[in-house]
Amino acid sequence: MARVRAITPRNRATVPRQRATMLHNRAARAAQVAQVAQVDHTQSPTLAGAVGHALTNGMFQCTRMDRHGKPTNTECGNTMKNEKHHIRSHLNKLHNPDSKYAKSQASFAKANELPQLRCDRPRLDGKGWCTRARSGQHSLVEHAHRDHEFRGKSDSLFTPWKDLSDKQRAYYLERIDLKKRYEQNGSVYNPEDETLRKRFEKEKFPDA
Ligand SMILES: [Zn+2]
Ligand SMILES: [Zn+2]
Repeated sequence: MARVRAITPRNRATVPRQRATMLHNRAARAAQVAQVAQVDHTQSPTLAGAVGHALTNGMFQCTRMDRHGKPTNTECGNTMKNEKHHIRSHLNKLHNPDSKYAKSQASFAKANELPQLRCDRPRLDGKGWCTRARSGQHSLVEHAHRDHEFRGKSDSLFTPWKDLSDKQRAYYLERIDLKKRYEQNGSVYNPEDETLRKRFEKEKFPDA
């Protein structure tokens, strides 16, 4: 939401203009959305039995209610290309209670009383060890992305620290050193570290 600016003599003239621009933008956006999201009644889903509708832009919008196929307040609403394999892989991933995805969810772990998964990585700020417990693999992966700036294949996250290779440990330790230098330097990256930071942003966790 845009913040409403107080009208002062200085900006009085510009406010109506801004408002007009805002309304224009809103109309343009609504037109854009309508264009993207219109239901195409002449087309049907390419996959028989898929719940949802074809859109005018060649996409299919899934309206399955939840991943167990039960109606809830939250509709799916995901869109994908209206092609059999795209729809099928979406249904398998999100709406099949036996899928790897469904079983990685916290709700599945809780319902089946699975033991919590514990993080076993050094904290990114260098202050000790992270032992956060999470229900379900998906939650632990989310935690690693957010709190350890982890990128790459998530399989490694379930490997204890002691079983990682030196290269894999360096992935974490180099980032911690970088953060430390950043703080010592008055919350600024020196040019060399700025380059390193950008490299880390793209670098994926090494396979071995
Ligand atoms: Zn769906
Ligand atoms: Zn952690």
